[in-house]
Amino acid sequence: MLVDTLLRPLQDLRISVTDRCNFRCTYCMPREAFGPDHVYLPHAALLSFEEVTRVARLFVQAGVTKLRLTGGEPLLRKGIEHLIGQLAELRTPQGQPVELTMTTNGVLLPKKAQTLKDAGLNRLTISLDALEDATFQRMADVDWRVEDVLAGIAAAQQAGFERLKVNMVVQRGVNDQEVLPMAQYFRGRGIQLRFIEYMDVGNTNGWRMDHVLPSSEVRAHIHAQFPLEAVDRHRPDATAQTWRYVDGAGDIGFISSVTEAFCGDCTRMRLSTDGQLYTCLFAHQGTDLKTPLRAGANDTELGQLIAGVWTQRADRYSERRAAHQGSRIIPLVPVHADVPEHQPARPRIEMSYIGG
Ligand code: SAM
Ligand code: SF4
Ligand code: SF4
Repeated sequence: MLVDTLLRPLQDLRISVTDRCNFRCTYCMPREAFGPDHVYLPHAALLSFEEVTRVARLFVQAGVTKLRLTGGEPLLRKGIEHLIGQLAELRTPQGQPVELTMTTNGVLLPKKAQTLKDAGLNRLTISLDALEDATFQRMADVDWRVEDVLAGIAAAQQAGFERLKVNMVVQRGVNDQEVLPMAQYFRGRGIQLRFIEYMDVGNTNGWRMDHVLPSSEVRAHIHAQFPLEAVDRHRPDATAQTWRYVDGAGDIGFISSVTEAFCGDCTRMRLSTDGQLYTCLFAHQGTDLKTPLRAGANDTELGQLIAGVWTQRADRYSERRAAHQGSRIIPLVPVHADVPEHQPARPRIEMSYIGG
């Protein structure tokens, strides 16, 4: 098992399969920054499915048991089911299959859900920030409607995906009025709704602390209407804290990256669309895996590179941000393990490039 400098084991790999998206969520790919002139990665820069599978195999050999496909919008990557088919064949050193999941905005699921299931995808997380069209469309900045995402969720259920999760990014003053309707809609449907605190990822979303609605407030709001009780975390590395409805209508999750940072449990490495490794969502710089991969490095050499990146890892951005907030200094510049605070900020990578 590989552990980093803070003794966190490497267990998950998030794989971004495209930097493109059919949404323009204001908190992720605002249209001003990702307009018609935005330059996306050229096709030749993208890792091929064979390259992704080879890298994923090395990660599985190094102890990873969970792979998550993300983006950008992963369903925009042509033939994604072929990649899923290849990844589904990977086995851990103990001979077990890996858990294969995907995060998607959902609108292409009516076309694709069955193919994904047949290819071997185990789990799906679908993002949806509101049930009311006007709020949804303002946040996603698209003409798609809520019913298109709901149709995606229905298609996933019909295809046989169980224990679906729905991610809702909550922004104070933007969609906080949707918290209760969303909770009400998804309770009792066998779908876990997860509330995500709005994060200061990337450089373009104009993040401000006063736009963050702390999970504690969201939880109190729901609890007043639908009483909740805490559920023990079944996996110490789980990003979400789980609570359940006392009346048995299922459970909900809270991803409190801003107010209750969980860096101590962060066991994730990220592989960008063009083959860079990132050890933190808030990184400025990755480690180039693609160049040695394409230059003919063998598995041992690539495995050593991966091990070197993980064993040197010291990231705990969110915890450091929280410490700053505690002292009432909200960082307007990135705070990162490898950046002394007096240095000018370097741009961070965008979430659409590295995957959520
Ligand atoms: N396009 C897919 C989707 O939206 O599900 C996958 C990629 S998206 C970057 C992954 C997740 O990151 C989504 O659930 C999205 O809501 C979340 N996300 C993006 N920007 C965020 C931000 N600034 N704060 C919190 N969550 C964010
Ligand atoms: Fe696209 Fe997902 Fe980012 Fe929204 S959150 S812009 S759907 S990548
Ligand atoms: Fe992991 Fe970085 Fe997020 Fe902390 S800030 S939980 S180290 S990705």
